[in-house]
Amino acid sequence: MNEIRVFQNVINGKLVSSSSTKTIESIDPSTGKCWATIPNSTKEDAKLAIDAARKAFPTWAALSAMERSEYLRKVGDVLSKHGEELAELETRDNGWVIRETIYGLIPSLTSIWYDAASRAAEGGRGETVQLGASAVGYTLREPYGVVVGITPWNAPLFTFTVKAASALAAGNTVIIKPSELASVSSLHYGAIIQEILPPGVVNVITGFGAEVGELLVSHPNVNKVSLTGSGATARAIAKSTATNPKPFIFELGGKSPNIIFEDANLDKAAFGVTLNGIFTGNAGQICVGGSRILIQRSIYDEMIAKMKKVIEEQMKFGDPMNPESAMGPIATLAQFEKVCSYIELAKKEGGEIILGGRYGSKCLQPNDSHLENGYWVEPTLIRVDDHSLRVCQEEIFGPVAVVMPFDTEEEALSIANDTEYGLGAGIWTNNLDRAHRLTRQLESGNVWVNTYRRVGPELPFGGQKGSGFGTDSVLEYTREKTCYIEIG
Ligand code: NAD
Repeated sequence: MNEIRVFQNVINGKLVSSSSTKTIESIDPSTGKCWATIPNSTKEDAKLAIDAARKAFPTWAALSAMERSEYLRKVGDVLSKHGEELAELETRDNGWVIRETIYGLIPSLTSIWYDAASRAAEGGRGETVQLGASAVGYTLREPYGVVVGITPWNAPLFTFTVKAASALAAGNTVIIKPSELASVSSLHYGAIIQEILPPGVVNVITGFGAEVGELLVSHPNVNKVSLTGSGATARAIAKSTATNPKPFIFELGGKSPNIIFEDANLDKAAFGVTLNGIFTGNAGQICVGGSRILIQRSIYDEMIAKMKKVIEEQMKFGDPMNPESAMGPIATLAQFEKVCSYIELAKKEGGEIILGGRYGSKCLQPNDSHLENGYWVEPTLIRVDDHSLRVCQEEIFGPVAVVMPFDTEEEALSIANDTEYGLGAGIWTNNLDRAHRLTRQLESGNVWVNTYRRVGPELPFGGQKGSGFGTDSVLEYTREKTCYIEIG
């Protein structure tokens, strides 16, 4: 029998037990079995983390940009050293396949730290203005103080990194509160980077959102909050920060369209909208998953045939620890039940399952029968003709995409924008005018043309409409102060 691993909070540079003896079980989604425990932290634990971050702030903020930059670069180095173990923990915790966590995720985290290191000076860059002959005015950019990063279960290491790296570069200290559903990799990550950072500069404390999360975001000694999560949590945070108002960044959900025109490279699009667009992105559990695929009617049948072929030939589905698997399980039992319920709803609403649609152990390969209690859902495509259906409007957050034909560019645009969300959108076309036109007209924080889901730390990533506002950039973690000086 495998031993259950025990993980602890990281506060003030040390591993710290919670004041509660209760723990939360971490479930391996490929087996449905508990493999680790994490602290069920209390409000008292959260206050310790705030005290540590507050105490560390003046010294960290007083470092020069060059000094902070040096620290961040070393964190990037340490991360590559521990990359394999971190990738394995992330895969075990939420089922994101190992070949993506090792070869995609870890290198991207390293580059985020290096990029933040190169931007540390940006955080202090204000402007100067001559005010007539006898005065000048200038602005200072200052760190806020203590930043709380609240992260989701679907991308714990990535969201930890984008928040912590930018906030630290700007001179803030940080508390990360990972999801109670997948905290292991973040707790371990937090422990590893203590090798480099002074105590209290980064603290990681886990527990339930309504308990620890609520205390952290509402506390008067926390100065800025960055949430990556659901709209419901964003609304709860907006409410609980009302007494001690503070700025926040909200990175929320999506229902992103991928629009394929008849003049596109169809083979490239077939791969881009299926494997890359949604399914290999943690089994569709990614905020920018292209979960609405719009296809021009003249190429509809040809495109569907190409998409099916790509999925059937290249989408090896199974044990996330197997380096050949391209898609693993759904991360939690609750999410599994939600995804399955949407497949059933789609059938009831009149959607036609054109690929996949099965869930549970019956969709596993015979040699994966030891994983029969895991949370498996096949890559699923559902043809719809009515965009008002709930499966077209609500975020499913799984390997399920709706497919819909359209006739004209205007119609495609209108369907694409017909959602409360505005996070990502893909355009597949060889018509440059159309690409530029639609890029402006799509109500989306990110638009990709003839590619999808490509991100670089050099560019901002954020949403519009119900997908949130703000980006985890260095400048967003600074506030401006204005000074006027008489010189005459
Ligand atoms: P969630 O909102 O349920 O939880 C996110 C975090 O908020 C967790 O750590 C949770 O404990 C905490 N939380 C819950 N209630 C809280 C409260 N009252 N106060 C403070 N913290 C609280 O989201 P989830 O289910 O973990 O993640 C999935 C969602 O995240 C999806 O909607 C997805 O689209 C979104 N997401 C967005 C992005 C992006 O960059 N836009 C990236 C990844 C995920």
